[in-house]
Amino acid sequence: MNEDPIDVQFNPSGYLFLSSEKGAQILEENYRVQREQGAKVSLLSPDQLKKKFPWINTQDVALASYGLENEGWFDPWLLLSALRRKALSMGVLHCHGEVAGFDCATQEMITEDGDPVNFKTIKQVVVQMQNSLENQPVECMAVINTAGAWSSKVAEMCGIGSGNPGSYEEIRLPVEPRKRYVYMFHCPNGPGLDCPLLIDSSGAYFRREGLGGNYIGGLSPPEDEEPDPSNLEVDHEYFQQKVWPLLAHRVPVFESLKVKSAWAGYYDYNTYDQNGIIGTHPLVPNLYFSCGFSGHGLQQAPAAGRAIAELMHHGRFTTLDLSSFGFERFIFQQPVLERNIV
Ligand SMILES: Cc1cc2nc3c(=O)[nH]c(=O)nc-3n(C[C@H](O)[C@H](O)[C@H](O)COP(=O)(O)OP(=O)(O)OC[C@H]3O[C@@H](n4cnc5c(N)ncnc54)[C@H](O)[C@@H]3O)c2cc1C
Repeated sequence: MNEDPIDVQFNPSGYLFLSSEKGAQILEENYRVQREQGAKVSLLSPDQLKKKFPWINTQDVALASYGLENEGWFDPWLLLSALRRKALSMGVLHCHGEVAGFDCATQEMITEDGDPVNFKTIKQVVVQMQNSLENQPVECMAVINTAGAWSSKVAEMCGIGSGNPGSYEEIRLPVEPRKRYVYMFHCPNGPGLDCPLLIDSSGAYFRREGLGGNYIGGLSPPEDEEPDPSNLEVDHEYFQQKVWPLLAHRVPVFESLKVKSAWAGYYDYNTYDQNGIIGTHPLVPNLYFSCGFSGHGLQQAPAAGRAIAELMHHGRFTTLDLSSFGFERFIFQQPVLERNIV
């Protein structure tokens, strides 16, 4: 398609991570890895931080890292629409429906230990189409499970997670919906144009939204205070009780902020190691996963898409080796742990 590239409203701005004494070493190690890989990131002492951003309370900050180039935010819906339009222009056939099940061929094999293992090949995807009384079977060569927070439900449809105790089939895709709130607030005297995306040592974060003194921010709850994910209602008390005190402590002018609106969404949360799952299932070789990105899927989407394309096209990764993100890590207990996740 000979159209101009879509403007995704990219807003260049650095990410500013703050750490307490406790987290300073990890921040410094992360900084070193990022520099080695060519990222333009700098470390700031509390004094340097105060000089650069005088509106920050640096009282309990031991160290900060700040991105100098190629960081920022953009409109994810515009990016998704642009990728979709490009794919359609290149001949991709699009059909909208809900996956309701799979028809599989099963082959039993016996391991060296004499245990039976069932290998499956998906032959058809059963799709529930809008305005259709009957489900439609769709023949397929391969299936990619990109169902986000619902990807575990889709995996269960071909038996993943429901085998005999102790069997490989018993190991489920460890992804579930976790409700997260984003609050938009107004503070006319707040940080201006050079306001970074600030991630506090407490986990609270915020960034500027436009130029009119508006900001968005939030905080992931601790594991034992996860909100009920059965609906997407916003807990406004959560902001008052948990988020606002942290923001106002870090940016004293936020004492006078006013919440204007809020929304809730689902993180596609991988309960095992909070990282994406990329690759095939060892017992269902024509089922690929690209899911479980745990709240950082947007920034990883281009690399994840390319990785799956490489696997399908070449049978292996050809640019970045992402084997450690495969389903096998749940079988062999090899978590991919990342430090300082927002
Ligand atoms: C509040 C919040 C803030 C976030 N902030 C960031 C951020 O700053 N940076 C970042 O990188 N990421 C962020 N994320 C995470 C990011 O949005 C996700 O990781 C990303 O959207 C995952 O993309 P996906 O395509 O894998 O899944 P999704 O975008 O969730 O898409 C999954 C799709 O599968 C469909 N589906 C589900 N079940 C079926 C079925 N049975 N049949 C057919 N279709 C089905 C769903 O309808 C949906 O359209 C945030 C998420 C939330 C909730």
